[in-house]
Amino acid sequence: MSWKTIDDLALAGKTVLTRVDINVPMEGDGVTDTTRIDKIRPTVEDIIARGGKVVLLAHFDRPKGKVVPEMSLGRIQGAVAASLGRKVVFAADCVGPLAVAAIDAAAQGDVILLENTRFHAGEEANDPAFAAQLAALGDVFINDAFSAAHRAHASTEALARLLPAAAGRLMEAELKALDAALGNPQRPVVAVVGGAKVSTKLELLGNLVSKVDHLVIGGGMANTFLVAQGIDVGKSLAERDMAPIALEILTKAKAAGCTLHLPVDVVVAAAFKAGAENKVVAPNACPPDQMILDAGPATVAALTKVFESCKTLIWNGPLGAFEIAPFDAATSAAARVAAALTKAGKLVSVAGGGDTVSALNHAGVAGDFTFISTAGGAFLEWMEGKVLPGVAALHG
Ligand code: AMP
Repeated sequence: MSWKTIDDLALAGKTVLTRVDINVPMEGDGVTDTTRIDKIRPTVEDIIARGGKVVLLAHFDRPKGKVVPEMSLGRIQGAVAASLGRKVVFAADCVGPLAVAAIDAAAQGDVILLENTRFHAGEEANDPAFAAQLAALGDVFINDAFSAAHRAHASTEALARLLPAAAGRLMEAELKALDAALGNPQRPVVAVVGGAKVSTKLELLGNLVSKVDHLVIGGGMANTFLVAQGIDVGKSLAERDMAPIALEILTKAKAAGCTLHLPVDVVVAAAFKAGAENKVVAPNACPPDQMILDAGPATVAALTKVFESCKTLIWNGPLGAFEIAPFDAATSAAARVAAALTKAGKLVSVAGGGDTVSALNHAGVAGDFTFISTAGGAFLEWMEGKVLPGVAALHG
């Protein structure tokens, strides 16, 4: 698949509607993590360098089609200005006269930030009339919000069909990395899927077994697979009713030639508490009053061999209850192995989805992966093999 990028559009003298994801966490009036704002900078600078006027379109929280003052993007105007190092002009509506006036008043090099698109019900309804109101504000459309691309909303989907459209730099980087990991990867490919539950990752597992050569299952979801094989996992987190589904995945993997890897040893404890007394046992030896909270060292050694035999790695979800030491050990150790192989040029490593980013940050190796996606839902839907409407709308 191919997408247009900023390089494919003439931007000089144009008003460039730029969809970004700056849905940042706040405490009081302060932004607690500016990562999402910082990441739009390459696209903003590129558009300005090419002579375009940047008009930011974004959502903020979930106002559900109504004006909710606490969810105004005006609250982060200062943070956007500080991160971009530019004057930011704010418009109290994202369509109509207020938006037009702000765009007209801004000088080249200023950034115009329009109010929360979700204040209008037409946004989430992907309403063509609302999209036309947005389109009337500009000449071209750049979508830099991969993390919102799984939603067919007016500012992510319909708008892209009304104006010449292309991917921004962040979107482009995401799409390239995802294509290198699952679209056209160098083989063999290993996928690591961990986390709490099988039920939330069923579609993802079903898609991966037909696409990757090795599938590593870790975390609480591995317990469900152990149960499916008749193993008693004591008080461990496991979805016992999902056992038949786990068996189906095992069968499907076998038929597709995908080798499935479950823990070969596990760390058990009586309580999920920091520093809880714990021991390493075989997967079938969890005492009835204890729970499996991490994979053991033999599992990490086995994964190291798998990683070494592969050219591409895609990772979602922790191998254990990584938030509390020492149950972070397997996730951190395996992440360090992947990072070292990546640094040595032997592995293309792509990771993403919610807790994965914090797990890799916790391991101190996020910077060494080839690409870390900060998109949660969009990354998971892409791993499930779904077409993302916001991406599909950019195909030339
Ligand atoms: P997910 O959001 O599905 O990726 O799941 C991440 C969560 O799974 C984290 O909060 C981990 O603490 C939790 N988790 C991973 N392994 C286990 C386990 N063996 N027992 C309980 N929770 C786990």
